[in-house]
Amino acid sequence: MFQKVHIYLTLLCTAITTIIMIIMSCSYLYVSEKSLYKNQMDSFKNDMNTIATNLEQQPVISMEWLSKMESQGNYTFFLLDNGVPFLYNTLGSSEEKNILLEECLADYHSSILIDVDHSSLSPYASYHTESEFFSPSAGKKYFYSVLILGHSSSKLQVIVLSSLSTLEEQIVHQRSFFILIDLITILVLAVFSWIFTGILLKPIMENQKKQVQFVAAASHELRTPLAVILSCVECCQKTEPQKQAGFLNTITNEGMRMRNLIDDMLTLSSSDNQRFSINTKSVEMDTLLVDSYEAFQPLARQNKLSLSVSLPECSLPLCNCDKERISQVLSILLHNAISYTPAPGKINLSLDYSREHFYISVSDNGIGISDEDKKKIFDRFYRVEKARSAKEHFGLGLSIAYEIIKSHRGSLTVKDSPEGGALFIIDLPKSKHG
Ligand code: ADP
Repeated sequence: MFQKVHIYLTLLCTAITTIIMIIMSCSYLYVSEKSLYKNQMDSFKNDMNTIATNLEQQPVISMEWLSKMESQGNYTFFLLDNGVPFLYNTLGSSEEKNILLEECLADYHSSILIDVDHSSLSPYASYHTESEFFSPSAGKKYFYSVLILGHSSSKLQVIVLSSLSTLEEQIVHQRSFFILIDLITILVLAVFSWIFTGILLKPIMENQKKQVQFVAAASHELRTPLAVILSCVECCQKTEPQKQAGFLNTITNEGMRMRNLIDDMLTLSSSDNQRFSINTKSVEMDTLLVDSYEAFQPLARQNKLSLSVSLPECSLPLCNCDKERISQVLSILLHNAISYTPAPGKINLSLDYSREHFYISVSDNGIGISDEDKKKIFDRFYRVEKARSAKEHFGLGLSIAYEIIKSHRGSLTVKDSPEGGALFIIDLPKSKHG
């Protein structure tokens, strides 16, 4: 499912960025091509002005001058006297040139808007107009200028053509370059989108994986007591009433086990949904530790363990925290220490503080935790192999403790204790938590 979403998001990101890029490229090309055309036309008009001035000043139009102008400006000249081609055109003229002239004149006559009264022009004064046409025979575009030199008896037309093939080649090059750049960019964008959406999806995928594991582990943990309850009920139905007490006792114990597990799961679920309520009050930490110590002393003694508490000698400031929740964390840590320390072991609960923090530690000289397991013990339902047989342990205690301390903006860490067991340290800020 995530693979599909990943592909879909990559395509979406790439498509959106590609559309934006194409719009930008096309706009740039449009503006750039327009300005190239305009510049070319301006330069052509300037040249035509110069040619017109030259022609006005020449009493006789020489063939050398025309040939020179043709080769210099890459122009083609046609001279018409009252519409009849001059000798200049007939020399070296070709069929293509004649067709070109016809096409040009056809365009000129179809697009001319004002008819100039040539007789009104003073001798050798000129009038010229520039435009653009497409020659179907040559398959190219041309700029053309029609220069009219007025004369009392005749009308001399000089038609100048300038091929736009160089400009068009330049435009084709520019377009090809942009297409290439766009294709490379789309490829880079697709790779980037794939990586980027992968990074975005990673936490969601991990979260989903954790949820699946959580549901699987929870179902597994609930199935065991449920199976015991069902088999006890079956046995109860088959035995005489006086022998049912043992089965009913097991049913009660397994029911309580299920209730504890469900309570733990609800605590974790409320922390996941940010509904973990923390009722902060000013708490005397030394009193809180002594209360926990007294509560666990009988259990420690029962397991032939010595439980001690170390408190600072001086009077302590108050800590702003949720007394019930911190007490729950201490219960989890002390209960674990008692469970994983063989007799005759030692467990110590101690309190220390700095200007901003309280440090509570629970150390034992029990079986200890390997470095590999230290990374995983705060995960939900994680139990070290050796602890799996213990029925009252679900592997949720430390994850609950971790969430409670996290909601107090503190930290819960584990190390090896100097005595060879485990050392859990709670770092609790004095007041910075909500
Ligand atoms: P559990 O309910 O199984 O104790 P926890 O989340 O409290 O679950 O602990 C996770 C695992 O961490 C335990 O299964 C145990 O293997 C290990 N552990 C916790 N505390 C200690 C300790 N004091 N000494 C050794 N191992 C410990």
